Amino acid sequence: MVSGWEKAKKILHTLQLHGYEAYIVGGAVRDLILKREISDVDIVSTATPREVASLFPKTYQLNNIHETILVREGKEQFEITTIRGHSIEADVKRRDLTINGLLLDQNEKVIDHVSGVNDLATKKLRSTLPYERMTEDPLRMLRVCRFVSDLGFSVDPKLYETIVEERERIYTVAIERIMKEWVKLLKGEYRNQALCILQQTELYRSLPQMNLTEHSLEQLSHLSSLSNESNLITLTAFCFCLEHVDEGYLKRLALSNELSKNIRVRLTYIKKRNDQVWTPLDLYYSSLEVAYDVERLRSLLGLETQSSLQLKAMWDSLPIHHRSELAVTGRDLLQDDQKEPGPWMKEALDTAERLVVLGTCQNDKKELIQVLFGEEGQT
Ligand code: ATP
Ligand code: MG
Repeated sequence: MVSGWEKAKKILHTLQLHGYEAYIVGGAVRDLILKREISDVDIVSTATPREVASLFPKTYQLNNIHETILVREGKEQFEITTIRGHSIEADVKRRDLTINGLLLDQNEKVIDHVSGVNDLATKKLRSTLPYERMTEDPLRMLRVCRFVSDLGFSVDPKLYETIVEERERIYTVAIERIMKEWVKLLKGEYRNQALCILQQTELYRSLPQMNLTEHSLEQLSHLSSLSNESNLITLTAFCFCLEHVDEGYLKRLALSNELSKNIRVRLTYIKKRNDQVWTPLDLYYSSLEVAYDVERLRSLLGLETQSSLQLKAMWDSLPIHHRSELAVTGRDLLQDDQKEPGPWMKEALDTAERLVVLGTCQNDKKELIQVLFGEEGQT
């Protein structure tokens, strides 16, 4: 991120040269003061997206966020947002939390219009006008919990009261926005502190589509840290803690088809794995990758696990690893057109596949045809 800083400062410099105010704002400034790793550097400026576009060679307008434009500098890209309100000061006062409203100028001087530095020092999540800030975008109530999870800070009493009183408003927030914050909340180092606040404020009851219960919050609190886990593992662990998850539930969370499919497979095998150790057949049908993930999930749940080495050895000793390696094909089954094609072919191939994986039968065309059709089926 060192080069990221330098590039961001160059952007500030260019904007200022052309008479605009510009500062680094938000998470980057907060994390710099907290000496935490910086994820992305956002910039706030009095320049409009059009004016920004005229100053930099590579810019991209985000079509869903009209006041923000991306500036690309080499491999890095920076979001430049035009001030909302009549000044930079008005802009930062309208942000969700004081710790997210700090500015950094091109000389790396922190500018604080909201007493955010003090809140960072006293580890407090505070909002300048809690009622106004939380009700104009109710997602911010969940963001408060997400930042508790991330930072372990306490919630200012006035802000806390506002969440208790206004919590039902979050019900109307788009699930996509909710899920982004929810995944971050699950991954935070202080997740259980955040879960407590969700429970005590009862905000969890008003989260759309999620059907969270006190029981599921309790289950979630027993999970090991998810800080270093992928979104897939994090969300599968989350689903495992719920009382009832089906395809419809995952659809309602608006996850990508790919992600929900991957979650479903892992949930299936984690349930299977509760009753027995991995068998070659399960390993074959699920894939080694899924098996590794299931064991990873078991370890997060505090259950004993099978070693990766052992699974890898089992995988390597499978006679085939994919249906395409099977020595018979649908065409072979028709036996020079002596047989009529039909649904029986799929069943026969499924059987052949299972017999080969189980080692009951060699992966050999002649032998498989013989087993499938008996003596009279031989050509
Ligand atoms: P992270 O490091 O996790 O990305 P962040 O503070 O950068 O944390 P983002 O969600 O990336 O969080 O948002 C960037 C900045 O934009 C925030 O610091 C905050 O100032 C502002 N912001 C983002 N979302 C909201 C919101 N819903 N309401 C008000 N301000 C917001
Ligand atoms: Mg960010």
